[in-house]
Amino acid sequence: MIDTAQLAANWAAVLGRVDEACRAVKRNPADVTVLPVSKTFGVDVIRAAMSMGLRRFGENKVQEIKEKAEALGDDTIEWVVIGHLQTNKAKDVARLASEVQSLDRLELADALHRRLESIGRRLSVLVQVKTAKEESKYGLPGAELPAFLDQLHAYPTLRVRGLMTMATLSEDPDEVRACFRQLRELRDQCEAKGHVLPRLSMGMSGDFPLAIAEGATEVRVGTAVFGKR
Ligand SMILES: *Cc1c(COP(=O)(O)O)cnc(C)c1O
Repeated sequence: MIDTAQLAANWAAVLGRVDEACRAVKRNPADVTVLPVSKTFGVDVIRAAMSMGLRRFGENKVQEIKEKAEALGDDTIEWVVIGHLQTNKAKDVARLASEVQSLDRLELADALHRRLESIGRRLSVLVQVKTAKEESKYGLPGAELPAFLDQLHAYPTLRVRGLMTMATLSEDPDEVRACFRQLRELRDQCEAKGHVLPRLSMGMSGDFPLAIAEGATEVRVGTAVFGKR
């Protein structure tokens, strides 16, 4: 059973916390978007979220997007890929996704571009940068970002809009915040070189107020909206 009232209360609470985090650092809450992350939750939950007006959902598995998109049969939904992407998924992503936030290598850009070109679509992308210390975290090393952004000019179907990161999992807020700061500083350095990167997707249920303090324009929130996975 989906508790739609609970879902609505969770959503309102997250928006309230975003507001509060913005006010604390004198930012305008209208400059921060919340991306609800629906991974592992079924289409009944997504329908309930849609009844609240939500249309854009973060997912980390292409297969899951495929199954949910088929089951829902509603092409007003915007699927945002936030998980590590294998190159062999490029065909489905090109067809189904409205955005990829986990672009982290040229081989993937190349595969996406070829698929997008063949179906005449464009795709919004964020480059995922590795700011966390864990080996297991994906993302392009920050030092490689300027050259990577230059190389992406060769792929006109990819609209590069900004950067994404996942912070270190840590009890120490300074350590987490340092990851977010690193992404913002990298963005500033690349913008000084002429790249246009207005969007910073950073912060999840456990750490989004810190990300907002460091300039996040989008926070990706799963657990705090939909509950434990
Ligand atoms: C699952 C996931 C999120 C949301 O995580 P929560 O802690 O549930 O809010 C955000 N970003 C990425 C890349 C994820 O995989």
